[in-house]
Amino acid sequence: MTHDARPALLHAALEAADRGWHVFPLRPGTKRPALHGEAACPRTGACTDGHRKWEQRATIDPDRIRAAWSRAPFNVGIATGPSGLLVVDLDMPKTTSSKGSSDAPCGAAIFRALCERAGHRVPDTYRTRTASGGQHLHFTAPSGVRLSNTAGTIGELVDTRAWGGYVVAAGSTTPTGTYEALSAPEAASTPAWLLSILQPAPRAVRAPSGPVTAQSGSYADSALDNETRNVASAQLGAREAALFRAARALGRLIAWGDLPRHTVEQALQEAGEATGLTAAECRSTLRSALNWSIAHNQVKRDAA
Ligand SMILES: [Zn+2]
Repeated sequence: MTHDARPALLHAALEAADRGWHVFPLRPGTKRPALHGEAACPRTGACTDGHRKWEQRATIDPDRIRAAWSRAPFNVGIATGPSGLLVVDLDMPKTTSSKGSSDAPCGAAIFRALCERAGHRVPDTYRTRTASGGQHLHFTAPSGVRLSNTAGTIGELVDTRAWGGYVVAAGSTTPTGTYEALSAPEAASTPAWLLSILQPAPRAVRAPSGPVTAQSGSYADSALDNETRNVASAQLGAREAALFRAARALGRLIAWGDLPRHTVEQALQEAGEATGLTAAECRSTLRSALNWSIAHNQVKRDAA
């Protein structure tokens, strides 16, 4: 590469900082932080009083940004926590298997389906296209709530980045492509329905009164109905993925005690078999997806 990529990357870093997003350098052409890790800390400079990781060193100071990006064509990392951002990361299906990968839905399609199910449009907010063809939806996080990263909590191939996470900013380039802004309005605030998935109300806070229990019950029942319908109406080639997604979504409700496992298993087993999947295929997909979802959501609740 003969031309100097530094001015364009500096511009990208300054533009992000201008939005109030805290940036730090990523190794040129990669998604990896350029700053040293704790094991290699020299205990000098920024780390004189102890190691400071990228999340603490990320900045919106234009002078520090100019100084850093004058040294090398660093890609731009945005530390989502200090930036007050919640970024929804919509990934592409892995193409490791030669068979069956082409009809797997991408994260964007899964997220769109989730929005529809929640009765909302896909939120209009600052959005980038990632080097691999995925998307990052940037939302402002509510103040007073410390969200952390999630993987698969919202849906298959739908992750989130908040405290402890970062995203690659528009303008950065890797060997697979360039990150670009698809729409450039401000980041919208995190939709309440999304927040309720990421931050489920602690059960202890729920009043033990009739109406609340009834509401939670009817929500669980309608989720079960919807998921069962989704599976039953899945097209050839998407049946197993639909079953998998439904089991992951409902597994959360099992973990929270809103639905009994045998009820979910029976409903999805019947819906899966009705699409033409064999009983054994349904059972094995259901077992792994439910186990994953229940374990995942239990860990999350214990940590909360
Ligand atoms: Zn250090």
